[in-house]
Amino acid sequence: MVGSAAVETLVELIAAKRDGRSLEDAQIGRLIRAFGSGELADYQMTAWLMAVFFRGMNDAETVALTLAMLHSGDVIDLGDVPGIKVDKHSTGGVGDKVSLALAPLVAACGVPVPMVSGRGLGHTGGTLDKLEAIPGFNVTLDVDAFRRIVREVGTAMIGQTDRIAPADKRIYALRDVTATVESIPLIVASILSKKLAEGIDALVLDVKVGRGAFMKTERDARALAEALVRVGTAAGKKVVALLTDMSAPLGRAVGNAIETREAIEVLHGRGPADLIECTYALGSEMLRLGGVAASDAEAREKLRAAIASGHAVEVMERMVAAQGGDARVVATPSRLALGEAVVPVLADAGGFITGIDALEIGLAGVAMGAGRTRADQKVDPAVGIELAVARGDRVERGALLATLFVRHATDADAVHARVRTAFAIGERAEAVPALVMSRIG
Ligand code: URA
Repeated sequence: MVGSAAVETLVELIAAKRDGRSLEDAQIGRLIRAFGSGELADYQMTAWLMAVFFRGMNDAETVALTLAMLHSGDVIDLGDVPGIKVDKHSTGGVGDKVSLALAPLVAACGVPVPMVSGRGLGHTGGTLDKLEAIPGFNVTLDVDAFRRIVREVGTAMIGQTDRIAPADKRIYALRDVTATVESIPLIVASILSKKLAEGIDALVLDVKVGRGAFMKTERDARALAEALVRVGTAAGKKVVALLTDMSAPLGRAVGNAIETREAIEVLHGRGPADLIECTYALGSEMLRLGGVAASDAEAREKLRAAIASGHAVEVMERMVAAQGGDARVVATPSRLALGEAVVPVLADAGGFITGIDALEIGLAGVAMGAGRTRADQKVDPAVGIELAVARGDRVERGALLATLFVRHATDADAVHARVRTAFAIGERAEAVPALVMSRIG
């Protein structure tokens, strides 16, 4: 009956996907609505998700699932905010604090950035945890306040409310415990349903590749990026994706307050080269999608000018103040407190740094309390890791590789060896991979 005008039972729709057939828009819409109303039980949804995991979905089905999950909640209407609204989404990594600098920087160039972000889970950090390292910063604004701040300041950064794609929230919780997270159509629908709910016109995706990323290989990351761009475009948005390296942490800081400090440094025209390049590469795409620059060169010039003039810093100050935070941290990032016990990690051999394992550094951060292994855990904003070297650097035996910021020196005992072994030291220097591996869109 699937594919005909007849009304099937929900069990028939599950069976259709189990048997490898494609579903029509109305059928996918029906499944998601039935899940929302309770007519489709969690165990039936789980069966359907497993069928999708093995049988896949074509682009039309993935668009239908994205839109059905999007419309399970509210779509924020930013019609009264002038301009092309553009956001950025990263698939997550270690040391990825780009959003904190990028949103005010792009807004300072005239492109409104409504940003709904997530928390860290597992070895990857989350923007909300980093923002909350700023005393008073409120990430749970209601939609009216969010809209007003985007209109008045140019950007606001909040967490997913209960009304943003609630079907995704419940479906993701089921996927997480039934081994169905790693499915490209399900990931695409999950990411895009949340992002489209922000009321954006365009989206730039940073699909991370490597040890510290969700996608470990370039092949898998490219497949995800291409699907995100195709489905996002079919859903009526302008979408571009960059594949960027996440084999080593981005920048030098891993942790919450320490990453927020580093992101603010970028707005002051300082900071590590890879973090600056990632911010500029994504910012350039956002400015071009936002219609304020016609070329990469023009976009980068605008980004540079917004930093040099202090305008980007000013936008960040206004956003922090509007969201209840202590805006003085923007002029003086060292106001963000770090753990008082400072423990060095030293090289036990001389040579060249040939790798810094992002996964191991991320897991060390979690073990120190900077991240969480369960969604209900709290993070400690003050703990973190500062890398003292980058790939390609030459070090002597005994040189400082990293500094651990903890509450008490003994807290570092459990992670010290893990951080040390994350650094690969070789006799010869090895080529450092390009940060931006490719562009799709
Ligand atoms: N991030 C999401 O938001 N959803 C997924 O399914 C995977 C990663």
